[in-house]
Amino acid sequence: MEGTALSLDQSPRISSIETAILDVPFVRLQQFARFESRVQSTVLIRIRTDGEHEGVGEVVTPCGPWWSGDSVEAVKSIIDLYFARELIGADPLKSCDLLCKLDKVARGNAFAKAGIEMALLDLAGKIYQMPVYDLLGGKVRDALPVAWPIASGNLEQDKAEMHKMVQQSLARSFKVKMGMMPIVDDLSRVEQLCDEAARLGASIRVDPNEAWTEVDARRALPVLAELGVEMVEQPLARWNLKAMARLNSSSAVALMLDESICTTQEMFEAAALGSGSMVSLKLMKSGGLRRSQAVAHIAEAAGISLYMGTFLETSVGTAASLHFAATLQSLPLGGETIGPLLMADDIVTCPITYRDGCAHLPDGVGLGVTVDEEKVTEFKRR
Ligand code: MN
Repeated sequence: MEGTALSLDQSPRISSIETAILDVPFVRLQQFARFESRVQSTVLIRIRTDGEHEGVGEVVTPCGPWWSGDSVEAVKSIIDLYFARELIGADPLKSCDLLCKLDKVARGNAFAKAGIEMALLDLAGKIYQMPVYDLLGGKVRDALPVAWPIASGNLEQDKAEMHKMVQQSLARSFKVKMGMMPIVDDLSRVEQLCDEAARLGASIRVDPNEAWTEVDARRALPVLAELGVEMVEQPLARWNLKAMARLNSSSAVALMLDESICTTQEMFEAAALGSGSMVSLKLMKSGGLRRSQAVAHIAEAAGISLYMGTFLETSVGTAASLHFAATLQSLPLGGETIGPLLMADDIVTCPITYRDGCAHLPDGVGLGVTVDEEKVTEFKRR
C-alpha cells in the first residue's frame, strides 16, 4: 500500500467525545406551520482519537422538538449519558458496528445517531485522507441546485427576499411554507408569490408540513397545479399514507413525502402504497448518511424521485448533506441545503459556498470543514 495513507500501523481508538449546544442566529424569523424561531440550535459533536485526529458532526432539529420529538437538549443528553461510553476506546473506522451498538443502547434517536455517524465519517476521512463522498463510493456531482425557503410570515418581505436571491444568483427556486393561516388566505398568498416568481423566471414549490386534511388537500392541489407549483410536500399527517396515495393517484402536481419517511420500512410501505412521487431525504431523520442511502435505494427501486432536504444545518451538517447528495444518481429538483445562507453567522472557518443557484461541495478530507473555535465560544449556550 505504498504511497497511500491506508496502511495504519495500529487501529485508532476513540479517546474522547465532546458535545456542546450552540445557538446561532438566523438572518430573519423562520416560520413553520406550527412553530417559529429566530435562532437555530445545534449540538456540535467532536470525537477525538488517541492520535491527532478529530471528527466533527452536528445535530439540528427544525428549531425545536415539534417535527419528530427530538430536541437538541435530549440529543446532547443521550450522547453524553449513554452513547459516549459505548464509543470510548472503540475503533472509529468501524462505524457500521458502532451504529449497531448504539441501536442496542437506545431505540430510535435517529438524530443523535446521525450526528455520531457524521463525526465518525469525518474522522475516518481525516485518517484515510479522503473526502467523505469517496468513503461512500465517490461523487457524481460537485454542486446541488437549492431552493430558498419562503417563511418570513410577511408577504412583502417574502417578495423582496425572492428578488434578492434571484438577483444574487443564490436561488432560482423557492419553497413556500404553508399551513400557518386558513387555506383560502394561504392559496391567495401563494398565488401572489407565484406571480412574483414568474416575473423573476423562478419556480415555486410548497410545504404545508402535514397541516391539511384530505379535504383541504383536494381543494388546494388543483389550484396549486393551475398556478404552476412544481411540487407539494407532505400535505397530510405523516401516518396518513393511504390518503396520500389517493391524492397522488389523481394529482397533477407532484407530491413529495417528508415527515412520512424516516426509516427504510416507512419508505418501503409508502412505495408499495404509491403515496408520493418524490421523497425528501434528510440525514438526521433517517439516522445518518448510510441509512439515508438505504432509504434512497428503496425509493429509486420504486421509481420515486429523490430530493435533498434540510433541517437548516450550519456548514457542518450542510457539508455532510452535500457529500451524501453528491453520491446520488438523480435529484430532479435538487434540494434545499441552504442553512448557512439563512444563518447570520456560521461555526466553521470557510462556510459552504453558494453561486449559480447551487450549494457547492467543499474541498478537503473528511467533511471538508474546519470548526472556528471563536465562533464556538461565541455561540455556546451557557
Ligand atoms: Mn418538509
